[in-house]
Amino acid sequence: MTFTLSRTSSTIAVVGGSLGGLIAANLLCRAGWDVHVYEKAASDLESRGAGLVIQSELLAVLAEAGVLIDETIGVNIKERITLLQDGSKAGALQYPQIYTAWSTLYHKLRQALPAGRYHLNKELTRVEQDQQAVTLSFEDGTEVQASLLLAADGVHSSVRHLLNPTATLEYAGYVAWRGMVEESLLSTRALTELFPYIGFSLPPHEQILGYPVPGADQSVCPGERRYNFVWYRPAPKDTVLRDLLTDSTGKTWPEGIAPPLIRPEIIEQTRLAAHALLPPQFAEIVDQTEHLFFQPVFDLSCDRLVSGHVAIMGDAAFVARPHCAMGTTKAAGDAKAFVTALQNHNDLQQALGAYERSRLRFGRMVTDYARELGAYMQVHSDALDGRVMQGHQPTPEAIMRDIGVPLASWYETI
Ligand SMILES: Cc1cc2nc3c(=O)[nH]c(=O)nc-3n(C[C@H](O)[C@H](O)[C@H](O)COP(=O)(O)OP(=O)(O)OC[C@H]3O[C@@H](n4cnc5c(N)ncnc54)[C@H](O)[C@@H]3O)c2cc1C
Repeated sequence: MTFTLSRTSSTIAVVGGSLGGLIAANLLCRAGWDVHVYEKAASDLESRGAGLVIQSELLAVLAEAGVLIDETIGVNIKERITLLQDGSKAGALQYPQIYTAWSTLYHKLRQALPAGRYHLNKELTRVEQDQQAVTLSFEDGTEVQASLLLAADGVHSSVRHLLNPTATLEYAGYVAWRGMVEESLLSTRALTELFPYIGFSLPPHEQILGYPVPGADQSVCPGERRYNFVWYRPAPKDTVLRDLLTDSTGKTWPEGIAPPLIRPEIIEQTRLAAHALLPPQFAEIVDQTEHLFFQPVFDLSCDRLVSGHVAIMGDAAFVARPHCAMGTTKAAGDAKAFVTALQNHNDLQQALGAYERSRLRFGRMVTDYARELGAYMQVHSDALDGRVMQGHQPTPEAIMRDIGVPLASWYETI
């Protein structure tokens, strides 16, 4: 049974209105498709998120998606440095990159999408499909029919369960503490010795990295920017992680705890650990960060990205550890591959088959490589159900060369 897609009569529903869903919707709109985005959050996500790296492949897709690429897209950084615990420099590497805030990209992608296409407060609760269409049911009792559903509903995707019932998130054995601090709050030492760089420091089996990003209202003006950091720390699943995920009422949140529910004593212990383990410039960043939060680090791979009239993309399909800084770039690549497949094939199954072949391969490469980069932080045997993947502590040179840097060979295989 074939189903022919056509720009004049087919409709596409994108579920999940974060960066992946927004990039896909903008690309699809510009290619002439009738697209609507359904996001479960009740209000704009703009005030959320922290920092991310703009890889050159992401920049190219953003431009195609209608985002104006000018100096407001992010902060240009030329050099990487590694600091030792005493604050001295262990090494440096010239590596120009653009760093931005998640909210900057969200804001620009929302602006690029034509009015009336983005629907908040639409939590998908059920998906049914037949030979002709897919029916989406939402928490508010409404239903929508579409020719195609593209699910960009993130790491806890419910649509993924329909396609890959056995795919599960594997906890990597460590968490990422994160936060952002206003440039205006920093001392002269932190401003001169850390702020202008992507900085790293490597306590045993840990890693902190940071970089400047746009500040309030997406400002990239000196004095108005922020410094974003990610600090990876081992946290055995059944002891430390469980404690971190338990709020002050005693309730444990296995899928991730909302930042306001993290117990004050956990925050206090983290600030103390920063002073004990990190160079003073980084300890100051952690200390000055008002809203410290953490996310457990997960791996996720899928065997199927499509079924009938349904496809998944972005973090719904593959979750790579953040060490390649590829989350948003991979989502953008998925979106681009999806639109290209629809352009090249009128037949639904052929189009989705082409999309799946190219992105399964790419997703596997990125998740495998990110696993390798993070292996040295898996110091507990319960990290992977008894399997220990403990790697060697890397040198500053290796860290500066490999972290947040995509492999050219990934793109050659597409
Ligand atoms: C608020 C927020 C802040 C983030 N901040 C950062 C950051 O600072 N740095 C970084 O590197 N990455 C960040 N990420 C993750 C980053 O966006 C992703 O790794 C990457 O861009 C791929 O995104 P995605 O769109 O596939 O998934 P996600 O970004 O995870 O988005 C999934 C979206 O789907 C929505 N959704 C989930 N279930 C349903 C449902 N049933 N019905 C409707 N909608 C649903 C969610 O509310 C969410 O908006 C953030 C994600 C979110 C949601």
